[in-house]
Amino acid sequence: MSSATDQRNVGVGLNHGGATVKGFVQKACSPDRPLNDSLEGELQAFLTNEDQLHTYDDLTKVNPVTPTTVLKCLQARYSVKVFYTNAGCTLVALNPFQPIPDLYSLDVMKEYHCAPQPQESKPHIFIVAEEAYRNVQGQVEPVNQSLVVSGESGAGKTWTSRCLMKYYATVAASSSVVKSQGTVERIEKRVLDSNPIMEAFGNACTLRNNNSSRFGKYIQLQLDRCQMLVGASVQTYLLEKTRVACQLANERNFHIFYQMMKGATEEQKKEWMMPQGQHFAWLPNVEKTIEEDCFQETVEAMVHLGIDTERQRQIFRILAGILQLGNVNFCSSADESHLCNLEEQSKESMQRAAELLLVPAVELQSCLTVRMLKAGKQSVLKPCSQAECSVRRDCLAKTIYAQLFEWLVTFINNSICADQSTWCNFIGVLDVYGFECFQINNLEQLCINYANEKLQQHFVAHYLRAQQEEYVSEGLEWSFVKYQDNQRCLDLLEGSPISVFSLLNEESRLNRASDAQTFRIRLEKELCDNANISWDKFSKEPHFTVAHYAGKVNYQIQGMVEKNKDPVPPELIGLLQKADNPLLQQIFADKESDNSPTKGLSKVTVVSKFKNSLESLMKILHNTTPHYTRCIKPNPDCKPLTFKKEEVIMQLEACGIVETIHISAAGFPIRIPFKSFIQRYGLIRPKYSKLNSGTPSVDAEADSVDASQEVEELLRMVLQYQTFEKQSSLVHCGRTKVFLTQLMLDLLEGQRGKIL
Ligand code: ADP
Ligand code: MG
Repeated sequence: MSSATDQRNVGVGLNHGGATVKGFVQKACSPDRPLNDSLEGELQAFLTNEDQLHTYDDLTKVNPVTPTTVLKCLQARYSVKVFYTNAGCTLVALNPFQPIPDLYSLDVMKEYHCAPQPQESKPHIFIVAEEAYRNVQGQVEPVNQSLVVSGESGAGKTWTSRCLMKYYATVAASSSVVKSQGTVERIEKRVLDSNPIMEAFGNACTLRNNNSSRFGKYIQLQLDRCQMLVGASVQTYLLEKTRVACQLANERNFHIFYQMMKGATEEQKKEWMMPQGQHFAWLPNVEKTIEEDCFQETVEAMVHLGIDTERQRQIFRILAGILQLGNVNFCSSADESHLCNLEEQSKESMQRAAELLLVPAVELQSCLTVRMLKAGKQSVLKPCSQAECSVRRDCLAKTIYAQLFEWLVTFINNSICADQSTWCNFIGVLDVYGFECFQINNLEQLCINYANEKLQQHFVAHYLRAQQEEYVSEGLEWSFVKYQDNQRCLDLLEGSPISVFSLLNEESRLNRASDAQTFRIRLEKELCDNANISWDKFSKEPHFTVAHYAGKVNYQIQGMVEKNKDPVPPELIGLLQKADNPLLQQIFADKESDNSPTKGLSKVTVVSKFKNSLESLMKILHNTTPHYTRCIKPNPDCKPLTFKKEEVIMQLEACGIVETIHISAAGFPIRIPFKSFIQRYGLIRPKYSKLNSGTPSVDAEADSVDASQEVEELLRMVLQYQTFEKQSSLVHCGRTKVFLTQLMLDLLEGQRGKIL
């Protein structure tokens, strides 16, 4: 972390009284510091009424703002079951891990919707929702809004996104109806019903969350001229398709497979060739019961969205076929020129898979065991090794599943998207993976963390703007001097002409057997100028380390190039195009196989595709007013009402709350209304000392213009003992508040301490 932040040169300048003074202020706190060091001391210095911490509904009110004070405040609130806290322009949401009665009821929605000034109510996700809803109208013209929900796995992003969608489906319910299969549906219901379907196909039980979304999602809720919800559209990002064929110990495959296994009728199970008790290699931990194993709900949602019974049959047959593929294992062949055979018990599974996918069994087997090599215009058939056969089997399953998911998203969009002419504005809800740093990180984490860097950059730009607005409203003229954010890290990852992504793409295009160590050396040679990348040359496993804004992450190079290519053997595409299952045919109809001139499925590398989709997302975000919600997971075990400091502080850093503190420390992080200022520091100046004894009241003075003059006099008195040349780099008086640096605060506290 340190290298990323230490280079940061945060500075603001203020035009005050004609002269521009640069205020480069040292960091008030560093995320590198251990939790229990001298920050506790800082805390003592100013937080005199710690027992009141739970009442602070905005973290910026905590003085001084340090990771420790922020943490203490959140903990105090959590302990009295207050889960939402503002952090300036961000809402921090702590996961209660238990249903909280009445926190999201219809009445509460109405209360926030009808409040004259919702911002003045207690912090709540509905305030964010309502603020965005009112903002859409705009003061001059309508402005689209984005609600960015971030946080680590299990922190509550998807829950929050659902809450937001329910809020709009309630307060902006239109009279729009849509017809499906002879029944009439309200559009809000359809929009909400997209959730159970996408969660069934895109969520899975992981070590960190029983209902973990394995894809990113941006949903735009479309509003008409009267601000009524008339439709929605969904964009998804980076489905973790490897999960179909490979699950970590104690994790599970996507919910839908378990739902089928547990919820289907006897007749369906027969059709899908999955009798009770049948073991499926790709269905681990089937005995674990979770709330999400609810087949009926998924099917009902499918019906509501217009997926008819025949289509459903085709979908479920495909899924059942995938499960059978998982039970197909290959024996090693005698030598390279011989075909791999199937293990005895696999023969039946292969037969069943072919039957369910409606492809000829012989062709299926030969596609998995024989490779077609192109040599000029001639093609040569070559038997695959045992390992290659398994890779092809997994590839087939992943390809089918990913394309099926894509088809579903398109279907959902067709079903819930309003006609262009009927909607004019939107509120977007973004629910994406949070920053990830595991024991082993590969291309998936690189993409996810890159997305988080992009979002962080967007957030910082927005935050600075908000801060600037406060300075202006307080009469302090801001002249922005310089702010170097995480651009260097982004340059490293995506910049041109040379970056991690460009080198990775080049290596992927070079169609040669890629050697991890050679690629590492290439990275080192080309990117040695960027301080955000480093490596341990002597490590056995070639890797590189990126200093992200949220921390350093080691990325394993082995397998990265191959993952980026994500090749799909052309024979497999050809096979699926010939399938008798109409849905498979449709899904793969327009996909060209690798050996065709345009190389359909795998022409675009994974990072290029991801980068493009992220760029479109960023364009949308830039053209909307953003609202940030940072979800925090208070403990790793998903236990109700348990707050683990170490867990929370790490997330405060990773989701940028601590970063935000750094930025505010660059200006004047401490803002004290005149009244409070005089109450606390009045005793430094004898004239005011009587005020601290309780009489007379200071209110009248504080509310008047005099208050500002008195504050200034007091400050001048404190500062004249010091040798600071430029006082305005330490303190400013606004219209209603005093703006202080940490240094100035220390000075005042020192003076106060001497008198007390
Ligand atoms: P994420 O999408 O960030 O990975 P989820 O939204 O799936 O996390 O939340 C994980 C679990 O935490 C949910 O399944 C739910 O049980 C619980 N949870 C999250 N937010 C809340 C909340 N506001 N109130 C009650 N439980 C919640
Ligand atoms: Mg989620």
